[in-house]
Amino acid sequence: MNKNVKDVEISGIRKFFNKVSKVDGAISLTLGQPDFPVPDPLKEAIIKALNEDKTQYTPNSGIYPLRNKISEYLATMNINYDAEEVCITVGGSEGLFSVLMAVLNKGDKVLIPNPSYPAYEGIANILGATVVNYSLKGDFSIDIEDLEKKLKDDVKAIVLSFPSNPTGAVLSKEDMQDLHNLLKKSSVTIITDEIYSSVIFNEEYYSIAQYEDVLDRVILVSGFSKMFSMTGLRVGYVCAKEKYMKEFLKVHQYNVSSAPSIVQWGLYEGFDEGLKSVSVMKNEFKIRRDYVYNRLQNMGLLCTLPQGAFYIFPSIKKFGLSSEEFCTKLLEEVKVACVPGSAFGSLGEGHIRISYCYHMDTLEKSLNILEEWLKQYNKQMI
Ligand code: PMP
Repeated sequence: MNKNVKDVEISGIRKFFNKVSKVDGAISLTLGQPDFPVPDPLKEAIIKALNEDKTQYTPNSGIYPLRNKISEYLATMNINYDAEEVCITVGGSEGLFSVLMAVLNKGDKVLIPNPSYPAYEGIANILGATVVNYSLKGDFSIDIEDLEKKLKDDVKAIVLSFPSNPTGAVLSKEDMQDLHNLLKKSSVTIITDEIYSSVIFNEEYYSIAQYEDVLDRVILVSGFSKMFSMTGLRVGYVCAKEKYMKEFLKVHQYNVSSAPSIVQWGLYEGFDEGLKSVSVMKNEFKIRRDYVYNRLQNMGLLCTLPQGAFYIFPSIKKFGLSSEEFCTKLLEEVKVACVPGSAFGSLGEGHIRISYCYHMDTLEKSLNILEEWLKQYNKQMI
């Protein structure tokens, strides 16, 4: 077997999920998957595409009308890529894999945030690249000074990941400006994963891809799994200027040929109507975010208010357990499942990830159990 592959561990999220599936009746707050159905206009358009037998391979880059639609949609966020600079992928996952594969040689250094979505590091390790972690501050914003030091270190690429899984942090205007000033001075390739960009709770969205003076070095990875609540339908996209797109397409072509045809057609036809459901989902996530945040604060779990995505990352440091021990105890003793922070990198230790893309009833029930369990735990400690 390939040595790099052998050395890579399966994601800590999956590992814990496997543990949860063995506990009968456990309430899970572990999944990063909205609990809403696919918006009706999209469902209907996908079924229509199937009935019209639009089931052949599409062009490798995806169908042009959808690429154009994505280009127009991104323009509403001040991100300017032409349709030719958009490639439809099999979820954000394939996008990330094919991008990293196209960019990184064995041994190349790649800057990856810690904590962050485990796939970045996993893919980099499979490719034999060298991972250099950059740290986040207490509020999970980028530690610009740390990054500045690490950027000097002969780095090929940097991965940005906002809104963040697992922290829910987004880039503020000031952080974005600092980051832009720093990256502008470097020649590093910037890979920005913006799969949660449709779930932000502030009005303004900030992205490195909004800066024309670095855009020729930016590769944007995004997708529809979270936006349209269609994690199983597997469509995402990658945007890049020709220099990168040309090479990326070779990997993408040999990897998957093209993304699923009927979903592409469905997305194209149902896009505009489907966007209405995106704001409904976002408003609901905001209500849940506020509810979960207030409950956690009231039970003495310190956390930063998430500004995007649908995760919250409270600190459990004061309990003197590792995040794995904490989550395992919580699961085994009262059957509530959260993901240990260590699954997202060494600096995720001391935290747990709670996903709040669950129904309010589930959130209320599980948080009641957590609160009671913490009371008992605190009593035992006195
Ligand atoms: N990036 C991040 C930050 C994610 O959290 C995920 C999925 N959880 C992905 C990319 C991949 O998403 P997809 O389902 O589109 O492959």
